[in-house]
Amino acid sequence: MNVESFNLDHRTVVAPFVRLADRKALPHGDVIQKYDLRFCQPNREHLEMPTVHSLEHLMAEHARNHSTQVIDISPMGCQTGFYLILQGEWDDDDVLDLVQATLEDVLTATEVPAANEVQCGWGANHTLEGAQAAARAFLAKRAEWSQVTA
Ligand SMILES: [Zn+2]
Repeated sequence: MNVESFNLDHRTVVAPFVRLADRKALPHGDVIQKYDLRFCQPNREHLEMPTVHSLEHLMAEHARNHSTQVIDISPMGCQTGFYLILQGEWDDDDVLDLVQATLEDVLTATEVPAANEVQCGWGANHTLEGAQAAARAFLAKRAEWSQVTA
């Protein structure tokens, strides 16, 4: 199939993990890398939507404090994780460090950025506590992020 993750057998992965999902060389030589940040075991657990939404806001804002090469962080519709798209060539270890630093910021945040009707499409649909609990659980398994399958 065309979509990389549609060719991934989701029964074989063990969350949490950080996985290189795609790498594209653009016509002028620039490279874009897409990472699968999987918080929840597929088809077994998921994040509640306000948690997904607040993590999206928090990670999108705070990741850019650590790198100017962040292109996008977006939630998966299955609510089990996020895609992180980065400009340039990255070593996996540097990506893990970026994710760790970003989630450590989430833990110390005192509010969800842009959680209001001016800056967001559903400003009431947020939970800082939920986002921090998910970040804390993901960070607790930091040593396992590189292992995608059992
Ligand atoms: Zn929003």
